[in-house]
Amino acid sequence: MSTLELIWDTQTTYQLWSWNNNTVHYTAQLVRRIKNEVYTFRIGARGMEPTDIIAIKVARGKENVEDLEREMGFYENQLKGLQGTVVPKCYGFYTTKVQGTPLGCLLLEYCSGPHAVDRERVAHYNMRAAYALHAAGVLHGDLLDGRHFVPMGRETRIVDFAVAVPHQCVNGLGRRLEGHGRHRPCGCQELALLESAYGRR
Ligand SMILES: [Zn+2]
Repeated sequence: MSTLELIWDTQTTYQLWSWNNNTVHYTAQLVRRIKNEVYTFRIGARGMEPTDIIAIKVARGKENVEDLEREMGFYENQLKGLQGTVVPKCYGFYTTKVQGTPLGCLLLEYCSGPHAVDRERVAHYNMRAAYALHAAGVLHGDLLDGRHFVPMGRETRIVDFAVAVPHQCVNGLGRRLEGHGRHRPCGCQELALLESAYGRR
C-alpha cells in the first residue's frame, strides 16, 4: 500500500491510499490549477521537501471517481507501453473519502513545452502519436480540435482519456507513416478525420 498526503492549502490536507504493491509514501503540495479538475502539485517522499512537479487529475463524488478509475485502467493496460512517449507517465491512482464523499486522484507526468512553430512538423508528430494510440487499442474520442495534443519537450503527448474507448483499429501503423505522401485512411473514422485536418494536401 502506498499513501499520498495531499496538501490543498494551509487549512486542508487529505490522506489518500493506493492499493498497489509499492510502499512509497508521498507528500504533494498544490501549486496551481491548470484546467477544470487538473492541477500541478509539487511532490516528494513524505518527510522530505516536495520538489518534483506533476499533474494531478482530481475527481469528487462516486461517479466521477469511477470514471477516473476507468481512465487509470487505460494507462495500466492499453497505454502501458506508451507512457512517457505518446501519453504521460502515470504514477498511480489514490482514493479516500472526505466527509463521506469519495475523492480520487490520478497522478500524471506534467507535460508542457513550447509549441513548435513548424506546422508541418507538429502535424507529423500529432499524427504519429494518434496512430500509435490506435495501434495500442484506444480510440481517444476528443482529438479533433487539437487541445489534447500537448507539447512535451520536442515531442507530443496525447492527454485526457475521459471519453476514450477500447478500439480495434482497422488502419495499419508503420507502413502508412513511411514516405512523404499523404496517408490514406481506410476506415477508422478518428484517424480519417485527423488525416484531413493534419495530413498533407
Ligand atoms: Zn483506429
